[in-house]
Amino acid sequence: MTDTAIPVRAPADTSADDTILPFGVDVLELRGRVVRLGAAVDDILTRHDYPVPVSKLLGEAVALTVLLGATLKFEGRFILQTKSDGPVRMIVVDFTTPDRIRACATFDAARVSAAIAAGETSTGALIGRGHLAMTIDQGADMSRYQGVVALEGGSLEAAAHEYFRRSEQIPTRVRLAVAEEFRSGDGGLRRHWRAGGILLQFLPRAAERMRGPDLDPGDVPPGAVPHLLAEDDAWVEGRSLVDTVEDLELIDPALSSERLLYRLFHERGVRVFRSAAVRAQCSCSRDGVAAMLGSFSCDDRAHMVENGAISVTCEFCNATYRFAPSEIGDGQNASAGSS
Ligand SMILES: [Zn+2]
Repeated sequence: MTDTAIPVRAPADTSADDTILPFGVDVLELRGRVVRLGAAVDDILTRHDYPVPVSKLLGEAVALTVLLGATLKFEGRFILQTKSDGPVRMIVVDFTTPDRIRACATFDAARVSAAIAAGETSTGALIGRGHLAMTIDQGADMSRYQGVVALEGGSLEAAAHEYFRRSEQIPTRVRLAVAEEFRSGDGGLRRHWRAGGILLQFLPRAAERMRGPDLDPGDVPPGAVPHLLAEDDAWVEGRSLVDTVEDLELIDPALSSERLLYRLFHERGVRVFRSAAVRAQCSCSRDGVAAMLGSFSCDDRAHMVENGAISVTCEFCNATYRFAPSEIGDGQNASAGSS
C-alpha cells in the first residue's frame, strides 16, 4: 500500500470530476472509495436523452459500476446488468479497465410515462423485480465470473448490500446520488448531469469480526431469547457515518471527495490513496461493426439494406455507422469494410 500513498497534505477544496478516490480508515479497518462524475456521466446521459427518471436511474447504475469496477486488478471488463419486470426492463453498464465507462437502458416508454404521471419514479418502482448480475470478464482465454442477486423492488444500494452480504460476506455500505445541475451557457440554461457515490467495506485482519446481525439461528423455540451476534463496533461506527452522507455531499462540485472524507472520518484519521480517472468512451468502431456485418450471410445482409445503405446504431453511445452494400461483401476480409 505504501507505494500508492500520497504525501500528507491539506485536502483539496474543490471537486475533481470524473475521479475515483480510494481511502482507508486504518484504526477501524475500513476501506472504501468515493466517485465523482461530471462530464463523463453527463456525456452518457445526454447522448441517450432518456426520460429524466430513467437517466437518473442509469446515472446511479454508472456510479455503482465505477465504484465496483475500479477495483479490478487486471485488464478486463466489469459489467453490471439488470433484467426485471418494471418499466425499465434492462440496464447495462460496462466498465473497461483502466478507465472507460459506457451504459444504456431498455425501457417501455408508455409505462415510464405512466410512472412519471403517477409520481412513482423511485429506483425500485422503475426497475421492479428481477435480478442484478455482475460479470467480470478477463478476456477470451480466461473464465468469466458472474454474481447474481435478486432485485426486490428496492434501491440499487440495497441490492449491492445484499450482493456483498451473500456472495462475498463483506460488510458493505454504498450511497449513490444523481442530480441535474443547471448552468448558464451560450444558449441559455443548459442542464448538466452529475453523479457521485461512496462505498465502504469492513475488512478486518481477524475475519471472524466480519459477522453480521443476520446470523439468526432460525427455528428458535417460542419464548427463547435468540442468540444474535452483534455487529462489530468498528463496522457499526463506519456504516453509521456513511449513512449520514447526503445526496448533495456526493454531487456538490464545491465539496471535494477529500473534504467529504475528512468531514466523515476526521476523528479517526483517514488516509487517501492516489485517485484514478474515469471517462465516458464506447468501445464500438467502424471496423468492429463492419466485421460484425461481414459475419452475416449475403442474403441476410441484403435484407438489411434500406435506402441503398446498411446502417447500424450502437446501443451504448448512439453512434450510427452507415455502409454501402459493396463495402461489405464476399471476398473481402472483415476489416476491409471500413473506410
Ligand atoms: Zn458505441
